[in-house]
Amino acid sequence: MTEKRTLLYEGKAKNLYHTDDETIVLAEYKDQATALNGKKKDLIAGKGELNNQITSLIFRELNRRGVRTHFIEQVSNTEQLNTKVAIIPLEVVVRNYTAGSFSKRFGLAEGLKFPTPIVEFYYKNDALDDPFINDAHVKYLEIATDEEIAYLKKAALEIDEILTDIFAQIDLKLIDFKLEFGRLPDGEIILADEVSPDTSRLWDADNHHVDKDVYRRDLGDLIPVYQQVLAGLQTKFEGK
Ligand code: UDP
Repeated sequence: MTEKRTLLYEGKAKNLYHTDDETIVLAEYKDQATALNGKKKDLIAGKGELNNQITSLIFRELNRRGVRTHFIEQVSNTEQLNTKVAIIPLEVVVRNYTAGSFSKRFGLAEGLKFPTPIVEFYYKNDALDDPFINDAHVKYLEIATDEEIAYLKKAALEIDEILTDIFAQIDLKLIDFKLEFGRLPDGEIILADEVSPDTSRLWDADNHHVDKDVYRRDLGDLIPVYQQVLAGLQTKFEGK
């Protein structure tokens, strides 16, 4: 049994702990919800366990389909064990349909399907408000090499295909989502962080938001919406 030790990092939605194995960290999902880069902040009881369970289920499925991820196992309602990686400070966003900041930036309606998915990078830096960043900037800032940038885009698009399929199986459209990758000690890049309705936009058949936009845009209670996602995934992928 891997044991939880001291706090390694306190995040907005998760705390990371050392374990007695230096190659493994424990992620504890919290009930805190934030939006607008932390300017909107609330405690939503039950959100942590829902996101831990949803992320665990999705990462299990990604591992099963051959994607290299940091996920090892879920160890409690709010906790999971992950392989320790050095997080690459990029938010890798994949968009299948217009929404959110893309619609705002270009003055477009939400929900227009792209002919092919779009990959974007944002520089993970709270003090700078996570700015949009291009390949040349990523290279100049020595965040990743040309080869690594190409790999991140390819991996993000492959993961998009799998996630689109997973959510289609529970009748949800994957509009867009954010990924984070990390490096193992030997330099290999693997998928890290989380995949949940906190980090994705999911629309149902009536184009209702089944994700954090419910909180961001004050559209109603978040918990029943996240419960709907978890219940659907459990029925489809765990036979529950
Ligand atoms: N996203 C995220 N964390 C962030 C910013 C965005 O998980 O710090 C996700 C968000 O949930 C959405 C996608 O990335 O699924 C694209 O977000 P967008 O750029 O449209 O920004 P937003 O409208 O969320 O500010």
